[in-house]
Amino acid sequence: APAIVWFRRDLRLADNCALTAAVASGAPLIPAFILDEEEGGEWRLGGASRWWLRESLAALSRDLEKRGAPLTLRRGDAQAELLRLVAETGAAAVYRNRIYEPWATMRDARIEAQLREKGVTAQSFPGALLAEPGSVCNAQGKPFRVFTPFWRALAKLLQPAPPLPAPKKLRAAPAPASDRLDDWRLQPKKPDWAQGLRESWRPGEAGAQRRLADFLRDGIGAYALLRDFPAKDGASRLSPHLHWGEISPLQIWSATAAAPEAGRSAFLRELGWREFCHHLLAAHPDMPEAPLDKSFTRFPWANDAAALAAWRKGETGYPLVDAAMRQLWRMGFMHNRLRMVAASFLVKHLLLPWREGELWFWDTLVDADLANNSGNWQWVAGCGADAAPYFRIFNPVLQGEKFDPDGAFVRRFVPELAQLGAKYIHKPWAAPERILREAGVTLGETYPRPIVDHADARRRALEAFATLRSR
Ligand code: FAD
Repeated sequence: APAIVWFRRDLRLADNCALTAAVASGAPLIPAFILDEEEGGEWRLGGASRWWLRESLAALSRDLEKRGAPLTLRRGDAQAELLRLVAETGAAAVYRNRIYEPWATMRDARIEAQLREKGVTAQSFPGALLAEPGSVCNAQGKPFRVFTPFWRALAKLLQPAPPLPAPKKLRAAPAPASDRLDDWRLQPKKPDWAQGLRESWRPGEAGAQRRLADFLRDGIGAYALLRDFPAKDGASRLSPHLHWGEISPLQIWSATAAAPEAGRSAFLRELGWREFCHHLLAAHPDMPEAPLDKSFTRFPWANDAAALAAWRKGETGYPLVDAAMRQLWRMGFMHNRLRMVAASFLVKHLLLPWREGELWFWDTLVDADLANNSGNWQWVAGCGADAAPYFRIFNPVLQGEKFDPDGAFVRRFVPELAQLGAKYIHKPWAAPERILREAGVTLGETYPRPIVDHADARRRALEAFATLRSR
């Protein structure tokens, strides 16, 4: 009887434990992907994720086809569709790699029970993380809430085996009926906002391997020095590939073995943050919705639709924040340093709830990831694990002068300031009228005036924060 390999967040053939086990079973295979548009509830796929998924599935389909086993596509409720596929094909086994979002672990447990009831073997495998959530604990047997000891403990536990090779040939079962990928309409409807995404990314396993190879060649050596400079492209840009499992953290870990030590350890530490966020989410299933520090449930957030719209559109009048928000819109991506600055601006300068930012990022990031997004938003807002203290308020002007000193990044994404020199590029309101005129900038017309004053906003944020402590 055939075996189904249920692809989900593991859109790769190499280092894929479920696929390797299915091949080893000797059964003829049915590789399948089910699009469940309702799964995740509030956290169903955002627009940028849908675009990525379409491209990644097209790549996976081609790779499977080349090995002789086409990908079967189905759409609908995951549980119902999987059971239907089992019934149609007489499959005796379902192999899958685990995903760890709270909604997914609950749903998958239900599906597994149903399959077993029908006498179908259901097997699940690791591979999305370096260590299983729950396996890295402190001396009291509890999950860590602080990153550094977590990372130390994980590194001690880790005994990385070499990643599994991709199977060369697959023995396919007769292919069941399949949807056509293009009928799923995962691409944006009009207007087509995906041009910048198409120019910036190559989704799929081959694209992920290419990115890794480029980064190992050009990036990792200077990673520790350059990763904070958005104009330098010093980071790996592997995050969407990791999110969709086009590459595994184990593959990355082992591929970096020969890299220079300073770059390698700084880079792997960031992979450690990814692990930390996933382990935190498993331990705190409400992390995407509720602050880990419960005192923040009474934080006096503002309600200001105009300010939120200005932030989303990159029209706050702070060039670094605006460049960051426009990079997000254009590329479906934002540099890590800028995520911290733009997020801090939302929750501290504008006093808007971190959940608003979390939702916007969810819809617009190609690497939108429930654990990393919620973990980091809480971190910036000061209510998360090992969080930046609330009173540390990024100054967007100083951040710009430090991390985009010549303004190259701002000029790239905020073209209306392109003619302004480095001295005023991060604070155009401070420039003499003549300089603005020569640069073709009219504040309030060609480029917005700051929607809040930094000093006032800082004071307001600290006062709001003080209300938490004073009750
Ligand atoms: P690199 O610097 O090359 O790092 C390598 C990998 O480590 C990344 O691909 C990523 O998987 C992981 N990583 C790096 N930094 C972090 C971090 N702070 N937390 C968790 N994992 C990390 N990352 C996402 O993958 N999805 C998100 O939805 C997401 N939302 C974020 C929201 C906010 C407010 C902030 C401050 C950060 C968020 N991050 C998110 C984390 C981080 O910004 C991105 O992972 C990183 O910018 C991706 O670029 P890179 O692949 O070049 O990273």
